[in-house]
Amino acid sequence: APGLHFVATPIGSARDITLRALDILGAADVIAAEDTRTARKLMEIHGIPVNNRPMIPYHDHNGAEARPRVLGVLEKGLSVAYVSEAGTPLVADPGYQLGRAAIDAGFNVFSAPGPSAALAALTVSGLASDRFLFAGFAPSQTGARAKWMKGLDAAGATVIAYESPKRIHRMLGELCEALGDDREVAVCRELTKRFEEVLRGTCGQVRDLLSERTLKGEIVVVIGRAVARAPSFQDVEAALTAAMEDLPL
Ligand code: SAM
Repeated sequence: APGLHFVATPIGSARDITLRALDILGAADVIAAEDTRTARKLMEIHGIPVNNRPMIPYHDHNGAEARPRVLGVLEKGLSVAYVSEAGTPLVADPGYQLGRAAIDAGFNVFSAPGPSAALAALTVSGLASDRFLFAGFAPSQTGARAKWMKGLDAAGATVIAYESPKRIHRMLGELCEALGDDREVAVCRELTKRFEEVLRGTCGQVRDLLSERTLKGEIVVVIGRAVARAPSFQDVEAALTAAMEDLPL
């Protein structure tokens, strides 16, 4: 169909692509991609010839120049399939401004849904899935990062965040500091790939476990929501003492 199609692609295992995504990639008049080489390779794996169809690179750094080119194709009543480097476009990936521009110009926008590391991680985390917040990457700059950590509980939801292996140790230290050592977390690494691994436990446990290891590859951190603490014996005793002080003797 004419319009802009956002197509989700694998986050690891090349076979994690839907039949419909392949149909759309096969039929689109133009392929736009964050990385045209990755897109070409994926299509090759699945036996979809590019033929003489134009491929437009569209990423964060060339959006301003590339957007009019994509809109020009849509203007002709043609279809464009957009793929990011991996997973779902717009999810910590380019595509938002392109979609917005297409919508504002009155073109159809479609999704071919599929893999996203965020939902894959939530699925295996063992943490509550009824209400969650996707928080993207934490800012790397100290002040903004501290503010970001403090804001995590505001949504009252499980939080899903992406983090680089370079900063994962720092992140766990900061999470423990901001939310307490006993907050439940899951560090999900290399999902759907050969070295897939999920480390679950309290923030303190996972931090200590990782202190003796370097982690490689791609990582999602899932953070459990704050749970109301059951009153301790001391809490009950203090409440009783206070109540008794108020009793008329
Ligand atoms: N659009 C992608 C999606 O839908 O998940 C995310 C793109 S973002 C630039 C890349 C980040 O996603 C990585 O740094 C990592 O945090 C996460 N990620 C991607 N693939 C992953 C995988 N197989 N396992 C764990 N995390 C992954």
